[in-house]
Amino acid sequence: MDFEGFIDIPVVDAHIHFPYPGLMDDILQVMADTGVARANLVATPDLQMVNQNPALIHFKVSHPERVTVCGALDYTQVFADVSRAAETLAAQVAALKAIGFDGLKLVEGKPMVRNMIPLAFDGPEYAGMWTALEAHDLPVVFHVGDPEEFWNAERCPDWARDQGWFYGDGIYPAKEDLYAEVDRVLARHPGLRIIFAHFYFLSADLARAGAFLDAHPSVFFDLTPGVEMYLNFARQVEAARDFFIAYQDRLIYGTDIGASAFLRDQAPQLDIQESLGRAWVVRKFLETDEVYGAPEGVGHWLGMDATGFHGIALPREVLERIYRTNVERVFGTAPVPLDREAALAELERMAAVIDAQAEAPVESPARQVAKSLKATTR
Ligand SMILES: [Zn+2]
Repeated sequence: MDFEGFIDIPVVDAHIHFPYPGLMDDILQVMADTGVARANLVATPDLQMVNQNPALIHFKVSHPERVTVCGALDYTQVFADVSRAAETLAAQVAALKAIGFDGLKLVEGKPMVRNMIPLAFDGPEYAGMWTALEAHDLPVVFHVGDPEEFWNAERCPDWARDQGWFYGDGIYPAKEDLYAEVDRVLARHPGLRIIFAHFYFLSADLARAGAFLDAHPSVFFDLTPGVEMYLNFARQVEAARDFFIAYQDRLIYGTDIGASAFLRDQAPQLDIQESLGRAWVVRKFLETDEVYGAPEGVGHWLGMDATGFHGIALPREVLERIYRTNVERVFGTAPVPLDREAALAELERMAAVIDAQAEAPVESPARQVAKSLKATTR
């Protein structure tokens, strides 16, 4: 994997997962190796630990210029009294803003997650959240759907089944139902700034992808694999290139680096080769016109036969938009400063929630980050 030939500009990777504070040095190394000046770190809810926001706070305290951070929601509060969900979630959005989060991450549109958190996006529980996001002008990175193969018994890859991502057995929401909910949310809240992750899983239907972007001028797609995205583009190289030129203001580079560190459910560890491979596959697609396959060691996310990608060799000015200036339109040219007092209060609140759930004191990431924040506050 050679990164030397890629264009030399300060790249922003808009979709890196950062589940554990201890992975920071590995992430910084991967950022250096892949030419990434700034990362947008995303958190997800976590049943035992509330969410991964403490890790994001830790990274931002340590390297305030290197990251923007998109926090996750706290569903312990929501499910404590679902009838008050609208107010609860509106207050959480305000709190994220006050702490210095740059945005909100929603993975709640991934069908497996949706079944664990069974709230419709256009329903009453989320209504206050959307209003608050619009009022606070807080952007969202939103995962809705998954590759269509995952609903199809014949076509769902084994590695996806192993993760519990086969949705064809009737208990998961249909992809079109999720899209319909999002359409109703966007109709009510046209001011929302949303980056839909993974090209909104529309890479097989570029006409529909374009119509969606045309209809909603303040939304973007990120280019985070989804290997199916790059296989779909390879089947229609000319059309893909035309699309990327036409919508060069609406596409944002991302990789999902760090995603498999918490899927694996083992000791927290970043697979460096897999992380580099993700970046290499996407950059090769954007910058060259070569036919290529996945490099060695990229792991399950590509399946075993991920070959036949085909680059679209975009012009430099288009690459600059996709790598940097588009995401700067979403998050600004500098990260929001962190309010250490507000962050510490939130970490201590979370640590107490985790202790109460476990009925014992837990050395949670929330507690660890709270301790280190106290130790370094003058
Ligand atoms: Zn992700």
